[in-house]
Amino acid sequence: SAGLYLVAVPIGTARDITLRALDILASADVLAAEDTRSLRRLMDIHGIAVGDRPLLAYHDHNGGRMRPRLMQDIADGKSVAYASEAGTPLIADPGYDLALDVRNAGHGVVAAPGPSAVITALTLGGLPTDRFHFAGFLPNTAGARKSFLLELKDIQATLVLYESPNRVAAALDAAAEILGPDRPAALCRELTKKFEEIRRGTLSEVAQSCCDTPPRGEIVLLIGRPNSSNVSDQDLESQLKAALGRATV
Ligand code: SAM
Repeated sequence: SAGLYLVAVPIGTARDITLRALDILASADVLAAEDTRSLRRLMDIHGIAVGDRPLLAYHDHNGGRMRPRLMQDIADGKSVAYASEAGTPLIADPGYDLALDVRNAGHGVVAAPGPSAVITALTLGGLPTDRFHFAGFLPNTAGARKSFLLELKDIQATLVLYESPNRVAAALDAAAEILGPDRPAALCRELTKKFEEIRRGTLSEVAQSCCDTPPRGEIVLLIGRPNSSNVSDQDLESQLKAALGRATV
């Protein structure tokens, strides 16, 4: 039925897409994508034809111009499926303004949830997942990065950051300096892809590994909360008990 359908697509492996997402892509009246070529390729892989349906580009640079067109389609009773280039739309990707406008106009917004690099990194990274703070991309100038990291410094949660491979070494150095070199960290690279890799260690160790072997591809950085370690609370407790036991003997 009419409305905006926000469709999550894979972050690497083409088969990481839900059956419902495929149904929506197969049946929507209008298709919109951050990158029309990658949506077309994905639909191809899954045997879904675009046919004579419009397949429109909607991204940061043309969103303002395209929104009225998509809003009109929805007002005319059409269903519009939107996918960003990878993962979940709106998560460090376009779609927020569109969803807001559609909702404010009184039309339906439907999510077809699926992969996102945030959740995949938390799943594999090995840092506590009970509380996390997703901070998106770090700013790319040194000064802005520093004040951004200062804002994150005292947050009592695992920090999740997106970073590009050319900047990750500088970002890790800055994080080690501002957050402390001994916080646990995990660099999660090329998730769900052929060269998937997780580098774990302290911030300074992971920073060093980036100097030794610069990581390529797509990266999510996880940083443990202040005073955290890779040891779980349970292990800490038993270590403490053992130490106390020795002390009283
Ligand atoms: N909407 C996407 C999501 O739900 O995760 C994020 C889009 S954002 C423009 C792209 C960034 O996400 C990359 O620079 C990288 O930091 C992260 N990312 C996306 N796919 C990834 C993957 N397969 N492995 C590691 N990081 C990934």
